[in-house]
Amino acid sequence: MGNDRQIFKRFFFIASLIIGLCISGVFLGISLRSSTLLKEQVIAQARAHFGGIVLTRKWNALHGGVYVIKRPGMQSNPYLESPDLKTADGQTLTKKNPALMTREISELASDKDTFTFHITSLRPLNPHNTADAFEAQALRSFEAGGKESFIMEDKAEGARFRYMAPLMVEQSCLTCHAKQGYSVGQVRGGISVNFNIDELNRTLRKNHLVVAAQGGFTLALLLLTLWYFFRQMQQRLDESQALLRRMATIDMLTNVANRASVMDRFSEGFARQRRNLSHLGCLMIDVDHFKDVNDRFGHQQGDVVLRELAALIAGTLRQYDTFGRYGGEEFLMVLDGVDAQRLAEIAERTRALIESRLNAQSGLTEPVTISLGGTLVIAEDQSIDDVIRRADEALYVAKSQGRNRVVLLGLDLAQPGSRPEVKPTGSGG
Ligand code: GH3
Ligand code: MG
Ligand code: MG
Repeated sequence: MGNDRQIFKRFFFIASLIIGLCISGVFLGISLRSSTLLKEQVIAQARAHFGGIVLTRKWNALHGGVYVIKRPGMQSNPYLESPDLKTADGQTLTKKNPALMTREISELASDKDTFTFHITSLRPLNPHNTADAFEAQALRSFEAGGKESFIMEDKAEGARFRYMAPLMVEQSCLTCHAKQGYSVGQVRGGISVNFNIDELNRTLRKNHLVVAAQGGFTLALLLLTLWYFFRQMQQRLDESQALLRRMATIDMLTNVANRASVMDRFSEGFARQRRNLSHLGCLMIDVDHFKDVNDRFGHQQGDVVLRELAALIAGTLRQYDTFGRYGGEEFLMVLDGVDAQRLAEIAERTRALIESRLNAQSGLTEPVTISLGGTLVIAEDQSIDDVIRRADEALYVAKSQGRNRVVLLGLDLAQPGSRPEVKPTGSGG
């Protein structure tokens, strides 16, 4: 039984481990997948920013730059040869080429702290447009054929997502940049976009927590269910084993120990007696004329008689006495620590009890009696077979002397204080 529990525990542990690993794997996958989706969303957002700027620049370049009214304090583009124009009505206009326009929109965007972008190249005309480390690396990768670069940076003011894609030289760019030696289709530089992703990180963390909580809850629920079923199975198994044990040791008709069980306990008592030389008594009990009982009252009534007889005798026993059905209508009683006198007293008391009570208890109109053959374990006994044989002999004598009586044999050989060898009692005959 202890072994079964160990097997159950090990099985539960292994099943829990496998389920735990599967659930963790599934929820880890969900968590990673949703992180990837969120990141892809951020990349898509960065591409959209980039695309917007490129289109705006293209529009500007297609017009060869656009002129705006030069307001007081406005600087003319120092990288253009003649950036300013005077209109017929005397207004001054200044030219905004794609590069300047891009920078000014970027400044506007950074003021609002939404996103910023930076146009740069490895050989910028304007030294303010020099690439930083990320941009330089991205630009080199574009020259090697790369299509885009991105990175997440942790800054004191918060986490930022940086994205960069190349600007290819188009015909319209050559108006300003032909002198740098560019040709159409070349990587002219790139625009890097960057924006705050604290909100994204918060969403990601929340997402991880929610997924972990869901995973934990699912795992706990599964393990609890599993544990419940294991407990149920174990209880059923315990019950079945208890029933099997009972069936293996109990006589189903009379509800007292069966022959195998009573012999086992007798053997144990015999071994104990051999060790400490205490008294050990044995009584073989047989119902008198039981065949007649069956014949007159029916086999079922005979069963009732056997059951009631067993219950009556079992009710008189001490805890450490053994009593069981030896076979048919024969019963065996093994009495620990009784000397010859006590054995005789118990045997006679049992005989008298059955004579006076069994018929009424079984619903019979006539008395049912028993004969008892008894003995004590003696030094010469090699095994319980020797003892049982002597008790059987005594029983045979009791039967031949007229039944409903007690005969004890071999008591004088047993221990000091033994009783006479043959002691017929009772009223039968
Ligand atoms: P004696 O006084 O010499 O012992 O006579 P007896 O009739 O009791 O002896 P015998 O051995 O001839 O018969 C025993 C009977 O016990 C025969 C058998 O049918 C009956 N018997 C054995 N087991 C059972 C049982 O489980 N139920 C019932 N009802 N009868 C049983
Ligand atoms: Mg018999
Ligand atoms: Mg009999």
